[in-house]
Amino acid sequence: MNAMVDDKYRQKSGVALVGLGEYSSGQLGPALKETAYCSLAGVVSGSEEKRRTWQREYGLDAGSLYSYDNFDDVKDNPDIDIVYIVLPNAMHAEFVIRAARAGKHVICEKPLATTVEDAKRMIEACKEAGVRLSVGYRLHFDLFHQEMMRLARNRIHGNIKRIIADDSMEIGDKNQWRVKGALAGGGPLMNNGIYCVQAAQYLTGEPPVAVRASYLPKTDTEKFADVEEGVRWEMEFGSGVTALCESSYSRNGNSLKVEAEDGWFELSPAYEYNGLKGRTSNGEMIFPKVNQQALQMDDFAICVRHNRPSRVSGEMGLRDVIILEAIYESADTGRRVPLELEAFAGV
Ligand code: NAD
Repeated sequence: MNAMVDDKYRQKSGVALVGLGEYSSGQLGPALKETAYCSLAGVVSGSEEKRRTWQREYGLDAGSLYSYDNFDDVKDNPDIDIVYIVLPNAMHAEFVIRAARAGKHVICEKPLATTVEDAKRMIEACKEAGVRLSVGYRLHFDLFHQEMMRLARNRIHGNIKRIIADDSMEIGDKNQWRVKGALAGGGPLMNNGIYCVQAAQYLTGEPPVAVRASYLPKTDTEKFADVEEGVRWEMEFGSGVTALCESSYSRNGNSLKVEAEDGWFELSPAYEYNGLKGRTSNGEMIFPKVNQQALQMDDFAICVRHNRPSRVSGEMGLRDVIILEAIYESADTGRRVPLELEAFAGV
C-alpha cells in the first residue's frame, strides 16, 4: 500500500448527526467516541443550546454546528462525509433528500420512511446524487442476532418451522411524537414491530409472501387517538415458515423465539442495546457485549470508502416499509395481503 492510500485508510470519516434527541445523546454520540473508522464531525439541531452543549462535549468547531434551516450548507463542509438522520419518522424523507442533494452519504434511522412513496423518493435522490443510503438497523451488528441468523440459516436445529416475536414498550407521555400520527406514521408497529419484521426476514433469509394482521383493542383512546395501541400479525414465507408477531404501546415485551425441527433458540431480551440473553435447546448462548451502534456506523464508513452497498441498505428499508403498509392494510380490512418482494443480499 502506498503512503497516500495508507493515509486515506487511517483517516476517520466525519459523521454529522441530525436531531439531538434521546437516541443521538444516549447512543449515537457516545458510540462515535468508540468508532474506529468514523467520528463526530458536525451536529444539526433546532436548539442553539443543544448545539453548544454538543460542541463543548465533543470538541466541535463552531463551523460544524447547523440548524435545520442552514443544514444544506453541509455541502461546503469537507469534514462531513456521512449525515445521520435521527429525527421523528415523518421527517426522515425531507432530511435524507436534503443530505443527498448536499452530496453526503446518508444513514437514516428506522423506519426509513412513513410511506412507500417517500422511501422510493429517498432512494431515488441518493441514486441521483451518487451517494450511499443505509438504515440504522443496529441488530445486524450484534453477536446474538448474528448467532440467531447462523442457527436459522444453517439449519443447526433442522429446518425452522415457526418464529414468535414480540417488541412492545409502554408509552407514558401522551404528548410525545411517537403517538402523533403525522410525525410517527403509525404506532408500535412503526417504532418497535419493525424489529420483528426485520428479524423474521434475517432468520428465514426470505421476504414474506403474505401478511395477516389485526389491531389489539384500545384501552386508552385519548393517548392512542392517532395511532394503534397494539397490533398482532402473521408473516407467511415461501418456505412454509410462519412468524407470529405482536407489538404494543401498553406493556413491555422483548423476545424472539425460533422453533425448528430438532430444537429451538431464542433471545429474551432480544432488541435492547445491551444485556441481550440467548438460549438454545442445547444451552445458553455466551457472547461478549458489543457496541451495536459503533459497529453499524463503522461498517457504513467502510462501505462508503470501498464504494459498496450497506448490508442494511435503503432498498431493505423500502422493503420493510412496504411490509409495514401491508400489515396496516390487513389490520384495516381484515384480509390477508399477498406480497411480491425481491430477496436480496443481507435479507
Ligand atoms: P427524540 O424525541 O428523543 O428526539 C427527536 C429529536 O428530533 C429531538 O431532538 C427533537 O428536538 C427533534 N425534532 C425536530 N423536529 C421535531 C418535531 N417536529 N417534533 C418532535 N421532535 C422534533 O426521539 P429519538 O428517540 O431520538 O428518535 C429519533 C429517531 O431515531 C426515530 O426515527 C426513532 O425511530 C429512531 N430511534 C432508533 C432507535 C434504534 O434503536 N435504532 C432507538 C431510538 C430511536
